[in-house]
Amino acid sequence: MYTETYRQLDRDHHLHPFTDFKALGEEGSRIVTHAEGVYIHDSEGNRILDAMAGLWCVNLGYGREELVAAATAQLRELPYYNNFFKSTHPPAVKLAEMLCRLAPAHMNRVFFTGSGSEANDTVLRMVRRYWALEGKPDKQWVIARENAYHGSTVAGLSLGGMAPMHAQGGPLVPKIAHVRQPYWFGEGRDTSPEAFGRECAAALEAKILELGEENVAAFIAEPVQGAGGAIIPPQSYWPAVKEVLARYDILLVVDEVICGFGRLGEWFASIHYDLKPDLMPIAKGLSSGYLPIGGVLVGDRVAETLIERGGEFFHGFTYSGHPVCAAVALKNLELMQAEGIVERVRDDVGPYLAERWATLADHPLVGEVRSLGLIGALELIDPATGERFPKSLAAGTLCRDICFDHGLVMRSVGDTMIISPPLVITRAEIDELVRLAWEALDETARRLAAREQADGPAIMIQPSIEESRS
Ligand code: PMP
Repeated sequence: MYTETYRQLDRDHHLHPFTDFKALGEEGSRIVTHAEGVYIHDSEGNRILDAMAGLWCVNLGYGREELVAAATAQLRELPYYNNFFKSTHPPAVKLAEMLCRLAPAHMNRVFFTGSGSEANDTVLRMVRRYWALEGKPDKQWVIARENAYHGSTVAGLSLGGMAPMHAQGGPLVPKIAHVRQPYWFGEGRDTSPEAFGRECAAALEAKILELGEENVAAFIAEPVQGAGGAIIPPQSYWPAVKEVLARYDILLVVDEVICGFGRLGEWFASIHYDLKPDLMPIAKGLSSGYLPIGGVLVGDRVAETLIERGGEFFHGFTYSGHPVCAAVALKNLELMQAEGIVERVRDDVGPYLAERWATLADHPLVGEVRSLGLIGALELIDPATGERFPKSLAAGTLCRDICFDHGLVMRSVGDTMIISPPLVITRAEIDELVRLAWEALDETARRLAAREQADGPAIMIQPSIEESRS
């Protein structure tokens, strides 16, 4: 009764993000009721290992009373006040100070937003404003990458490189160009990963030359692409990109919305890859997803120009630096520090996941496994051909649904299965994750074989947007 009532009301009134509304209405949604640690529970009594940490964000895991207490105390003290009109409040100030302490040394300012998308809108405003103030108003082009994800506002989707989103969301923000992504398994297997990484950096340089350095404001990229399929670039990629950017006067924006706050075993991926970003959009793990908050960390070069020469910056949000969100984020970072979460990912559970995850390479359905810190992917292939399954079989969606039924949240992007578990996951839980993934792969193989034999459109399932992404 409970489940059916919620399903019906959900169907009647609730439009879900990134969802085929009609198809979900027919299928009915899963009702998640409560959660603890790395597990979510649904209304039908299933306990499911959440290997996606919600949406790459619940880094400290579910049920942290300290975060509840921080929110409650702040709600009592000051539930809301803005940071406009020469005002501020202690949670925003303390969080700003702590973030700048954790960030690379040259980043000493932060602008708060409510989400990662708003952070990237802010990035676009800041880079164009910066160059205007520098007396180079033609520097407006931003170079991003195909299959990147930078959010779902109009600026976010324009910066992102998701073809299906572009097809629905236009006209896009002008003067944003996209270059190829460093996705070796998907696009570079005819050459070595290292050569491919260098080719992708060369494509960036070619685009800069095509547009003219004098017209290019910034390059934006996720250090490891998340929504695009947990794409870890070849080792050669970032050093080569750094070399290209050093040749031209172009700002570097490193989108840390997923990779920031310990996911790769450092506080920021920019530290892991030794990047020196001018701007770093952040969100998600900043509050472990308990409350919505994002921001942009701003390097000294851009900050000084905006501050010294800018006058009023006509940009901001009602909830920029919201006191309750800021208090929870601050507590979240303090807990991460006190518990050594980042070091644990780097020295313990990250290497352990890499070792255990790699065993899935022995499964006949798996063409590649990869992981870095606590982000991982595996590529599904047809064992008969060693190539991708036909798109119509929607192997990734099938595997994802089977995972759910087996008690595991693993997401699919096309035929790439991805994980990004809470950073507090234990070794025993990693063992469970890998065991469940193996079982789900077995079942996927069985079902795909049956489908291939049946060879009829009636049993084919509709690929979701994830499957239709380029
Ligand atoms: N940037 C990246 C790299 C992301 O992964 C996301 C969200 N998945 C965003 C930006 C947008 O964040 P939000 O959904 O909070 O707007």
